[in-house]
Amino acid sequence: MKEICFVTGNRNKLTEVKKLLSNYKVLSLSDINFFQDIPETEKTLQGNAFLKAKAIHKKYKLNCFSDDTGLFIKALDGKPGVKSARFAGENCNSEDNINLVLKKLKDIKNREAYFLTVICLIFENRKYFFEGKVSGQITNEKIGDQGFGYDPIFKPYGYDKTYSEFTIKEKNIFSHRALAVNKLINFLTNLK
Ligand code: IMP
Repeated sequence: MKEICFVTGNRNKLTEVKKLLSNYKVLSLSDINFFQDIPETEKTLQGNAFLKAKAIHKKYKLNCFSDDTGLFIKALDGKPGVKSARFAGENCNSEDNINLVLKKLKDIKNREAYFLTVICLIFENRKYFFEGKVSGQITNEKIGDQGFGYDPIFKPYGYDKTYSEFTIKEKNIFSHRALAVNKLINFLTNLK
């Protein structure tokens, strides 16, 4: 089975992506003994995805891919966007981020938002980008207990429940990351 490294320290994402890319042996950063943090210093999701993939490719010469995701809220001029992980400050957690979003949207009727994932693949020394986007609404409160990040406050259009009320398997069928990963899979499959 071919190996490919997913440049992420996020266990939830790794679990999601491993299930989607089942015809590859997906290596994690710990599988290759890489335990450093790669700071996301770029201003765009594309830039951050590329810088993480580039760092691992340079060091290990492995085919690899990296993703960066943001939640873009219309009433907040696209925030938290590329800063989604640190919206409430450098050492904040998902709970802090969610609470800040709900506070900023208090009494705001327009709750449109979208999740965007950008994947950067470095394959045989070339780089490729794949995107997945899901639009929806920010709820007025947290609902559900599955998933991670902003899942409890994001209700995708077409469903009457938040991402947190889906199982990983269900979320993997249509999530922003699944859409981007499916494009990656199609690309890798057509290479054969
Ligand atoms: P990153 O791609 O790990 O940098 O993600 C940025 C931020 O978006 C983090 O705070 C994540 O928790 C959040 N995030 C990424 N993917 C998802 C998701 O599928 N659901 C909810 N939040 C997410």
